[in-house]
Amino acid sequence: MELNLLSGILPMDQIKLDNLYKNSIILDHCRNPRNYLPISKIDFSGSAVNPFCGDEIHFNLKLNDQTIIEEVAFEGDGCAINLASGSIISEHIKGMSIESVGKFTETFRLDMQTNHLKSFDCKSEIFVLYDVRSFPIRIKCALLSVSALENLH
Ligand code: ZN
Repeated sequence: MELNLLSGILPMDQIKLDNLYKNSIILDHCRNPRNYLPISKIDFSGSAVNPFCGDEIHFNLKLNDQTIIEEVAFEGDGCAINLASGSIISEHIKGMSIESVGKFTETFRLDMQTNHLKSFDCKSEIFVLYDVRSFPIRIKCALLSVSALENLH
């Protein structure tokens, strides 16, 4: 890496982007996406598509009697950041009420669109997605899941 950097073969941004893809949490979620299974009963669904880069994401949710999200199923297509975000966020919203999902999407979207806000700490896997902020063009990929959850019906 160091040699390539000195010889100018790899621009700094490319190195940082490579490091992001090597992030073990992101890689793990890409390779073994969580909740990537159909569910028996669907109470809410939400989808979002980014036609410019071909990313898409779809969530199905099943609620329990207390209107808490009991099961989550997500499906996605496209880049690693999109898939990792979908997987991480599918885990994050399990056990939440629909109302709390609304608060989460609002908070996380605001965090991602600023350079300083971090409402989630490193104990949450959401935290690794903050690294995507270094690549403004990729923020949309990390936020596609949020758009899908904002479209729940
Ligand atoms: Zn993408």
